[in-house]
Amino acid sequence: MQQSVLELMQSMGHEQVVFCQDPHTGLNAIIAIHNTTLGPSLGGTRLWNYNNHEDALIDALRLSRGMTYKSAISGLNLGGGKAVLIGDAAKLKSEAYWRRYGKFVNSLNGKYITAEDVNTSSADMEYIGMETEFVTGKPDYMGGSGDPSPLTAYGVYMGMKAAAKKAWGSDVLTDKKVLVQGAGNVGQYLMGHLVEEGAKVMICDINEAKIKQAKGKYPAIEVISNDNIFDREFDIYAPCALGATVNTESINKMKCPLIAGAANNQLADENIHGPMLVEKGIIYVPDFLINAGGIINISIELDGYNRDRALNTVGKIYNRTLEIFDLAEKESVHTQLAAMRIAEKRIKDIANIRVGK
Ligand code: NAD
Repeated sequence: MQQSVLELMQSMGHEQVVFCQDPHTGLNAIIAIHNTTLGPSLGGTRLWNYNNHEDALIDALRLSRGMTYKSAISGLNLGGGKAVLIGDAAKLKSEAYWRRYGKFVNSLNGKYITAEDVNTSSADMEYIGMETEFVTGKPDYMGGSGDPSPLTAYGVYMGMKAAAKKAWGSDVLTDKKVLVQGAGNVGQYLMGHLVEEGAKVMICDINEAKIKQAKGKYPAIEVISNDNIFDREFDIYAPCALGATVNTESINKMKCPLIAGAANNQLADENIHGPMLVEKGIIYVPDFLINAGGIINISIELDGYNRDRALNTVGKIYNRTLEIFDLAEKESVHTQLAAMRIAEKRIKDIANIRVGK
């Protein structure tokens, strides 16, 4: 590793990083707490078979920082945190594994609150909840908010409509060609909104079962190959699979005027690819703004879950997206930077209020 853990934390502004391991259950975890100015750090637990510990650490650091921005821009009183668990989900998951992890989360006394993420489910949260109160995303029958994907997809749909208004003067998506990359949880709910509005949906996924499932639900969608997707013509690119798909190579090929999708860390390098998108005239809805529906949903669970309130709050992504476009234009910066500035300003302003107490 080029930089030590502390140097990485300093460069990205993290408050605390906790390493946990338990040989009995095979648990190896990194809990990254980025910033708790606005409130306790909240972010999902990702279980992934990383190539090495360094990749896992970088992922935890990047994702937790993203959560700080996501909560701050969404007006939530939450900080940014994220946990990554290292290993093969199929081999590791057990009651004891989750409860051991729950004990580690509990030892942080609420400074980190966990939730679902890649390879973790409401059922896993239920086990974690046996050892700590600092867990969200519990099943509906436990008073939880359940699967966050429908609300994340709704937020993406709202942000996409706002971007359409900016691009074409109308937010109507009827007949617009939208490529949804990733027919997973969020991708499929997003397709539902798009199909309902009469958009022409194209999808790609590396998992045949997901394609089959999506096509079964929405027979009108067009399935395309994963190869050379940017050689194709479409109006809106909705990345709903992986991060870093907006990079020098893809931007050079892109013919669509809009990018609006659910994936985290869509820009391979925000300093390079943010300005590159502006230069090419491609409107980009910042990832941490458009995909905040899940965290907004979960934040409502903390006050006692109410679905209508969740939908209403997630719907505000529409106006927030338009505000970011205005600010980006006014300050002549790319949209990701404009969104980061608003989030940073809120954190700074609230920190000042706290000092004055
Ligand atoms: P998911 O795992 O259910 O779906 C992802 C899909 O992408 C899978 O079907 C997978 O096969 C596919 N995929 C993986 N690599 C691909 C590739 N190279 N090309 C095409 N498809 C590929 O995940 P999800 O919950 O739907 O989340 C989608 C994205 O949105 C993720 O990046 C996630 O971090 C982000 N996100 C999700 C939520 C949420 O509420 N679930 C909230 C915020 C952000």
